[in-house]
Amino acid sequence: MDLLDILRRQAGRFQCPKCGESLADCQLEMVARADEQSLVKVTCAHCQDTRMIAVAVAAEVEPQGPAIEVRDQPIDGLGGPITTDDVLDARLALAGFAGDLAGLLR
Ligand SMILES: [Zn+2]
Repeated sequence: MDLLDILRRQAGRFQCPKCGESLADCQLEMVARADEQSLVKVTCAHCQDTRMIAVAVAAEVEPQGPAIEVRDQPIDGLGGPITTDDVLDARLALAGFAGDLAGLLR
């Protein structure tokens, strides 16, 4: 199962937090991949707002699909390097979230 495929299919259900346009045409880029979760960079096709999403795919398929954590802060400087701290932040944020995808992106 291709993670970016899953995300792209779901992206149209959400709006860019910055410009309010649909994220259906956003760019998705795999930044880092680990056993339990991956970091994906999302770039809005309308306003070019870029943010990181930490995606954890559960071992068993859930009705809501993969749990997705959207970080509040846009990346400083587009294309900047992802530090170890960034990854740890994402892990911590994800560990503290118990809701579904829609709740995360609300
Ligand atoms: Zn936008």
